[in-house]
Amino acid sequence: MPSISEPQMTFAKSAAVSGTSLHTGEKVTLKVQPAPPDSGIKFRRKDLQEEPMIDARVENLKTVERATTIGEGSVRVHTVEHVLAALSAMGIDNAIVEMDANEPPIGDGSAQPFVELIKKAGVVAQETPRRFFHVREPLHVESKTGAMIVLLPDDRFRISCTQAGPNGRFTQFFSTEISPAIFENEIAPARTFVYYEDVQPLMEKNLIKGGSLENAVVVRGDAVMSKEPLRFADEFARHKILDIIGDLALTGQRIRGHVLAVKPGHAINAELARAITKEQAKTIAISAPRQFPPGEGGLDINEVMQILPHRYPFLMVDRILGFEGEMKCTGVKSISINEPYFQGHFPGHPVMPGVLQVEAMAQVASVLLMRLAKSASRIGYFMSADSVKFRKPVFPGDTLFIQAEITKARGGRIAKASCCCMVNDAVVSEGELMFTFLDK
Ligand SMILES: [Zn+2]
Repeated sequence: MPSISEPQMTFAKSAAVSGTSLHTGEKVTLKVQPAPPDSGIKFRRKDLQEEPMIDARVENLKTVERATTIGEGSVRVHTVEHVLAALSAMGIDNAIVEMDANEPPIGDGSAQPFVELIKKAGVVAQETPRRFFHVREPLHVESKTGAMIVLLPDDRFRISCTQAGPNGRFTQFFSTEISPAIFENEIAPARTFVYYEDVQPLMEKNLIKGGSLENAVVVRGDAVMSKEPLRFADEFARHKILDIIGDLALTGQRIRGHVLAVKPGHAINAELARAITKEQAKTIAISAPRQFPPGEGGLDINEVMQILPHRYPFLMVDRILGFEGEMKCTGVKSISINEPYFQGHFPGHPVMPGVLQVEAMAQVASVLLMRLAKSASRIGYFMSADSVKFRKPVFPGDTLFIQAEITKARGGRIAKASCCCMVNDAVVSEGELMFTFLDK
């Protein structure tokens, strides 16, 4: 996959932009600085004592009402989504964003000022490769208000978005791949839009001191009230896409997948960002090594056969790649068309039986248990298999990585193991197995 070799990017030099902040109406200067690889995007409040920094990460997400606010302790940075969208889509992985206020300048309500800032500062490649979140299975989030986002597998980052205002006014749809050039021309210029009935109470409460017809498109009834006419017929749907990019930047991952969004907002975007982060953590935890580890630690087929009594056609482990401590190991099995079961399962459509994957898990777990007991004189019998899931079919030519971790071992007689089989980094099957041991 070409994405594996993409380098991380940061700024070539620092650059600044000034303007008015939306909520306080005060003047603010925002300055971007280069940052080391793997440091991500950080905001720094220059106006506060000790100039605290906040990581632009899902964990620091505070509120999602109207705009996205991040914070740590009592320190907050509001309305981060347009800056984050520009940084992420224009290819910046690592940066420090300094501000002398609690909010970036609102500009014209679009991300254009930040795109210009990024171009002014310049972008340079770093030595560390980028991290990607490859969507393997659909993720889905939904709210009571009718907002919904589905994230589907795709080898590029794409967003398709529908937008509908109150009573179906301004129903729009826009769909695009996200690349720096597309973002700059098609998405960044799209401005924030607000409904008059929503902003009027805020204006009365003096909550949007910096707000004017120059930094948002105000919709009243069917009319558009703004100094400048709409920049695109579907400007609102495009701005929704802009906000999605900004909110998903909080995952700290470059997404390879297709976002399908229906009436999205910051709240549901944030929920998707959380779901991605959760999914990513899961993938890291179960990701099998793709390369054979150098040096000792594993077991070759002869050593496996000294431990396991199983033989052809029922030996489901070719090799143990390595152990992680005493309780965890990874085995491997190459699935060839010559496996006897493919003749009948199924003629013309060879698929590895799921139960044999469970058997493979059991054999790898047995290796662990016998090693733990320092004895191969006993034989393990299955007592139960719980939470078994078959997620993807396994075909001839696949290499099955079998992971087992002992979660409970009682008195050398009963043991529990948490297991999974993986092909190309994706979990194809998993289960919780329980064994009892009897002398041969
Ligand atoms: Zn926005």
